[in-house]
Amino acid sequence: MRAIPLDGKKVAAEIRAEVAAAVRELAARGVVPGLTAVLVGENPASAVYVRSKGKAADEAGIAAQTLRFPADLAEDDLLRTIDGLNRDEAVDAILVQLPLPTQIRAARILEAVDPAKDVDGFHPVNVGRLVQNRPGPRPCTPAGVMELLRREAIGLRGMRAVIVGRSDIVGKPMALLLMHADATVTVAHSKTRDLPAVCREADLLVAAMGRPGFVTGDFVKEGAVVVDVGINRVTDRSDLERYFPGDEARLAEFGRKGSTLVGDCDPASVGARAGRLTPVPGGVGPLTIAMLLSNTVDLARARRRG
Ligand code: NAP
Repeated sequence: MRAIPLDGKKVAAEIRAEVAAAVRELAARGVVPGLTAVLVGENPASAVYVRSKGKAADEAGIAAQTLRFPADLAEDDLLRTIDGLNRDEAVDAILVQLPLPTQIRAARILEAVDPAKDVDGFHPVNVGRLVQNRPGPRPCTPAGVMELLRREAIGLRGMRAVIVGRSDIVGKPMALLLMHADATVTVAHSKTRDLPAVCREADLLVAAMGRPGFVTGDFVKEGAVVVDVGINRVTDRSDLERYFPGDEARLAEFGRKGSTLVGDCDPASVGARAGRLTPVPGGVGPLTIAMLLSNTVDLARARRRG
């Protein structure tokens, strides 16, 4: 079997077009949704993410700004900034880019964001709403995966889903969203015994571990749907040749940039067994950004409804 790609880029473009239309509608009523990203320090990956999120927001007509702070920012100063954004009428959505430097307690900062402006759905109040399946902003990456599955008409009811990874950002909310969609969910992690056997039970396998190429064909039931959330940058030429043998486009990219991106799945062996597979890049990444925009519009609408 050769897996048919699950085209996250295409679905993300659809969502972004819908968001742009919703923003135009709001603009006609004099409302411009405002998104503020907060970036502390110089983590290069974070800087890239924030830049692409800002660009996507601009394209959708959302008023986006990024507040940048040095890596040695004090926690209290960041709390004051968050407080200011909570009070700012022009700000509908606040995104605190993670990870934060170690002197700042991320939990304290995320809890300081007004739940009504919490675009990532990380505030404990919004996590509680997710647990209880009540309306509220959902974390963008798992929300993007759900949109992809919905729009690709992948029926989840009764499906056996296995998620590898239990982070607050991806694994846990993914499990809750799939459970609410009537899948039967298993959450695996680094202490799970015989991970390949657990994964082979899955009709839907979601890999969210941050381990390049860790999931191989041996983890995959023939014909399963596999969603690869991992984004790992590899800089070693031997890794490139292992994951993408004979892939001229990857080789050329590697020649230009000195690196390439690989997911948590080994694309060749997983692609040979899965029925559907999200590519990396072009799978879950673009959906995360699209859902950030969609959440921003939802928050802008909800705040005006009061
Ligand atoms: P994280 O916080 O580091 O969590 C990783 C999870 O994977 C943990 O629960 C860990 O288990 C589990 N894990 C690690 N090694 C494992 C192993 N050998 N066997 C089984 N489980 C293992 O990572 P994250 O923030 O969830 O991100 C996961 C990946 O998704 C990363 O590659 C990240 O870059 C990517 N990501 C992509 C997007 C996107 O837009 N596409 C968004 C967010 C994240 P323990 O809990 O036992 O340690």
